[in-house]
Amino acid sequence: MNLLRKILKKLHYSKISTKITIIYAICFFTLLTLTNVLAWFGFYFAIYQQAERTLLFSMRNTEKLLESMEQDTNLDLQSIRDPLVPGVVLRVLDSKGKIIIDTDPNYLSIERFEGGLIKDPPFWTNKTMDVAEYKNATIYRVNKNFIHDGETFKLEFFRTITAQNSLFEQLKNILIAIDFIGLMLAAGIGYFISRKILQPISTMTRTAQNIAIENMNTRIEVKPTNDELTYLAKTFNNMLDRLQAGIMQQQRFVSDASHELKNPVAVIRGYSDMLSRWGASDPKILNESVEAIKSESENMQQLIEQLLFLARSDQSKQPLKMESLNISEIVDDVFNKMSKTTSTHKIELLHNDEAIILADKVTIRQMMRIFLDNAVKYTPEGGTIKINSIKDGDHIKFSVADTGIGIAEENQEKIFDRFFRVKDSTSNNEISGTGLGLSIAKWIADQHNMKIEINSELGKGTTISVIIPIK
Ligand code: ADP
Repeated sequence: MNLLRKILKKLHYSKISTKITIIYAICFFTLLTLTNVLAWFGFYFAIYQQAERTLLFSMRNTEKLLESMEQDTNLDLQSIRDPLVPGVVLRVLDSKGKIIIDTDPNYLSIERFEGGLIKDPPFWTNKTMDVAEYKNATIYRVNKNFIHDGETFKLEFFRTITAQNSLFEQLKNILIAIDFIGLMLAAGIGYFISRKILQPISTMTRTAQNIAIENMNTRIEVKPTNDELTYLAKTFNNMLDRLQAGIMQQQRFVSDASHELKNPVAVIRGYSDMLSRWGASDPKILNESVEAIKSESENMQQLIEQLLFLARSDQSKQPLKMESLNISEIVDDVFNKMSKTTSTHKIELLHNDEAIILADKVTIRQMMRIFLDNAVKYTPEGGTIKINSIKDGDHIKFSVADTGIGIAEENQEKIFDRFFRVKDSTSNNEISGTGLGLSIAKWIADQHNMKIEINSELGKGTTISVIIPIK
């Protein structure tokens, strides 16, 4: 019991191919053994049946013959051997028990037969017959009484069921050998089949072992079949595609971020060097350096805040508190703050419809600020910025329209990419920015199931709108 438990435990932790091989071999072996046992019993049964049939046949024929001779006063007992089927031995005993006819005197004597009688013969034997074992042979006997001329004769029919029990022994050995060969064959075939079936898994394991961050291009070969392993290989490859895209995005993000941070740090270092050399003696340099350091560190602070926001959103750690909000209050608030802090542009709030939306107050405000900051940044001084928040059916459309430099059509998709900034003769690259604002706005819109639309013409202005579902 303990050994069996140990074996089962070992099997539990063994390779799938070993398990399949063992299960396959056990099933095949059981089936083969069952077939062999049935064949063995069938053979046995057939031989008993044959002996039984020849005995009964001989007995019936002899009976008929005796009936036809009943009228004869002189019974020709010698002729009753004629209807016997070959292999059947007949002995006729008179009323005193003396053998008067013996068709085969060399055959087993009645005493020996009776000495070898089996008490519990196999269940398929005919119960009207006696079965005896002698040496290696099994013998059937059937008795019949016959009265003639007032005297009772006893007819005893014998038939050897098996010429030799060794035949069965031989058959048994052959079947055991077949069983053993079958077991070996099943184990071999099982091992081969399981190896063949599970080969893609080994390939997958090897591929996975060879994959590293610097080497993400390896893929598993997908066979043109439709089985589970092909599906697994496809899923594995898709997962690698996604991981590779994610890692590349991450790497680009890190290198872009470091690149963006390099500039302000270099400027700050340059001015601080200047300050330490001449700053104390030259008030002009002092003033210029302090202003530059202040402005660059503000830029850096904004960049770091935006980077942190995106890093949190990438890890799904950016907290969003969804609640029912009156959008007109938020628009009012954002508009008031913006107009108070902007003296260079005219800001107008044309429409501000009331509607309840389900949103996170902080990030919605942040998104609106990004649109307004951009409108101010990319519109020459004195320009007008118009805000509209108009209810239309099941949504509200919040838009910010400026009269600024506009965005070329080919760039209108790209401006939502991280770190993308338009760099051409028409745009003013002096304008400070990080290229992260709109990607943050896009993330916020996506989180709220909102859609951003851009309508812009180069040199004429831009209208950026967001479609907000009403609760
Ligand atoms: P940033 O403004 O910090 O550069 P954003 O992600 O907010 O970054 O914007 C990306 C780019 O899209 C900007 O650099 C600018 O070229 C362009 N852009 C955004 N808003 C406007 C606008 N209202 N008018 C013109 N160009 C714009």
